Amino acid sequence: MSGIYQVINPANESIVTDVDLADLAAVDAAIEKADRAFKTWRTIAPGERAKLLRAFAQEVTNHRQELAMLEVTNSGHTISNALWEADNVANVLNYYSAAPERLFGRQIPVPNGIDITFKEPLGVVGVIVPWNFPMPIAGWGFAPALAAGNTVVLKPAEYTPLTAIKLGEIALKAGIPEGVFTVIPGKGSIVGNRFVTHPKVRKIVFTGSTEVGKSIMAGCAEQVKRVTLELGGKSANVIFADSDLEKAAAAAPGAVFDNAGQDCCARSRILVEKKAFDKFMELFESAVKKFRVEDPSLATAEMGPLISKKQFESVQNYLNEPVAFKGSAPSGKGFWMAPTVLQPKSTDSKSWREEIFGPVVSVMPFEDEADAIAKANDTDFGLSGSIWTRDSAKAIRVSRAIESGNLSVNSNSSVRYWTPFGGYKQSGLGRELGPDALDSFTEVKNVFINTD
Ligand code: NAD
Repeated sequence: MSGIYQVINPANESIVTDVDLADLAAVDAAIEKADRAFKTWRTIAPGERAKLLRAFAQEVTNHRQELAMLEVTNSGHTISNALWEADNVANVLNYYSAAPERLFGRQIPVPNGIDITFKEPLGVVGVIVPWNFPMPIAGWGFAPALAAGNTVVLKPAEYTPLTAIKLGEIALKAGIPEGVFTVIPGKGSIVGNRFVTHPKVRKIVFTGSTEVGKSIMAGCAEQVKRVTLELGGKSANVIFADSDLEKAAAAAPGAVFDNAGQDCCARSRILVEKKAFDKFMELFESAVKKFRVEDPSLATAEMGPLISKKQFESVQNYLNEPVAFKGSAPSGKGFWMAPTVLQPKSTDSKSWREEIFGPVVSVMPFEDEADAIAKANDTDFGLSGSIWTRDSAKAIRVSRAIESGNLSVNSNSSVRYWTPFGGYKQSGLGRELGPDALDSFTEVKNVFINTD
């Protein structure tokens, strides 16, 4: 044990519980155990592995209320979001439970024999999770990894270990064998870093900041360790004058203030066609004023507090541009902040360029389609984004031109577990979810059989 972490409820600053943090010896022991478990987990008949994953999914569903309440208390997520998040874990497990029985290779025509390919598991996979969406982000890593026959060691973020610990218990209850899925709470510099340096961890799935992601990628290079990175974002919500402005404006607060803006897909830059700018701002102001920031355990809550005092203070550094208007937030204890709309004077502004990870959005006008595309792409990131227009040809042109992994037209939804998710440029490397995620958790082995 390398110490204790005191979990704080961000909505009222009360102490929730203490969590033991693993030391190096504990991490090494868990990795060794996961490596031993791999030898049997990979040989379990595909249908049996599928059944175990379905049982795991069912057990998550049986605990959905408890998991959701843990997230409300630990992370300040609204109860409606937290229930969606618990259900997302079950859905992703169910989706990938179909994979073990369909992990097909190929038979490739060659002279003098037969050539076949196999998709082999990698071994122990280390999943490193940030604090903003503790449950879904963990599930996007561990569900396909387990389905492909790997074992998993999972490190939750220091702030938000509770649902991950619970998922570890639920897995055992569902019959997943010991060592196949192990949750190791601890520090990034100890547990996360050991995943990178330990030779028996054969792949890292990292979600978090671009800065730490780069150091993980560099660390993985040492062993040519496989790595998937899901990093930061500064996504644009592009609103054309020919769109349904009422709909676009009503949806815009949720697109950036959901989870108090602590969302890698937050549409934190709104670009509005010049001729519709004033009308949009009027509609947007009324939507922001109505956005309900309140006790996250209430069914009506649309936004809760920020995760921590540190995050609250970091967000305050971005308020040096003219404020167009603000919403409201509770006062008193807790890391509360009102949704804030900025109108930066230039695209050089820090609030326009950097990921804020808080309830702050910047709005700027654009001239025409080319200007919208240029402004949307003027960033090192490329994770998400939205395009609002009634012209479907324009929607397709702009979708193809924006350098981003996940775009939605007349919608702000980014995540569907059936479809690939990931970033362009410094928003990441590789894709999670969707039908191809298994490829990130397998090696292709080619075998030639001589028939002469
Ligand atoms: P972070 O990078 O500080 O931490 C992420 C995880 O990495 C934590 O578990 C942390 O303990 C661990 N870590 C820290 N240092 C490490 C090290 N040296 N070696 C190994 N592990 C280490 O990020 P955060 O503050 O927890 O999360 C916020 C960031 O995550 C934002 O930038 C956000 O955009 C990003 N994010 C991206 C996605 C995506 O899918 N692209 C999703 C959610 C969050």
